[in-house]
Amino acid sequence: MIKKRQKIRKGIILFSFFLFPTIFYYLSPVLIVQASSQGIINGSFILFVLMFCTALIIGRAYCGWLCPAGGCQEAIFLARDKKVIKGDYVKWFIWIPWISAIGFFAIQTGGYKKIEFFYQTTYGLSVSDIPSFTTYNLVLFLLIVLPSFLLGKRSFCHHLCWMAPFMILGRKIRNVFKWPSLQLQSIPENCIKCHTCTENCPMSLPVEKMVQQKIMENAECILCGTCIDGCKKFAIKFTTKQ
Ligand code: SF4
Ligand code: SF4
Repeated sequence: MIKKRQKIRKGIILFSFFLFPTIFYYLSPVLIVQASSQGIINGSFILFVLMFCTALIIGRAYCGWLCPAGGCQEAIFLARDKKVIKGDYVKWFIWIPWISAIGFFAIQTGGYKKIEFFYQTTYGLSVSDIPSFTTYNLVLFLLIVLPSFLLGKRSFCHHLCWMAPFMILGRKIRNVFKWPSLQLQSIPENCIKCHTCTENCPMSLPVEKMVQQKIMENAECILCGTCIDGCKKFAIKFTTKQ
């Protein structure tokens, strides 16, 4: 039986996916480059900064609880629930040149001069005509749906996501300073090595091993709580202590 917390989480993340066509531009890796080259701070710039800031306290909980791309990928679990192929480093090969391009254009244009949260949207909506509808569907299919089927569950999060590095960096800073923040804690004595947590982890993490080693920190953990809610022996819990 799925615990109430997981029902709520899945409900939120699926609803977020339902809203994806309207908020698509606020997560766009392209519009931020275009806006930066015009000295404009756009919606995705603001959201990416927010993702970094929230990760200082709640790690990658955004990925587990709110991300529309996460909602899409979890919906695909019903059709394809294959463990992801390793390659978390791939996204850094995308992120580093991309963030460098944003910095380059911002410097070249003489810095940011104005804020336009609704940049390039139509009354705040992202998908509002045939070209934006086509772009949305192409991105959805090529970057999110297809990799899920070919490379395994939440492959977009592992291999391609340009937002994840902001949160991974925020989380690493948190780990250096060790201030109170949301994370997992294991109680290995309770664990009966049933493997359920590893089987159910949407990020394909070796949770049982993490529990045994008492090392629950993992850059790819999205703090979804699936492992906590699926463990009959209460061997994992949320904590805010370092
Ligand atoms: S689900 Fe709980 S008992 Fe089973 S392996 Fe994971 S931590 Fe251990
Ligand atoms: S380790 Fe637990 S909280 Fe982290 S992604 Fe896996 S199931 Fe979610």
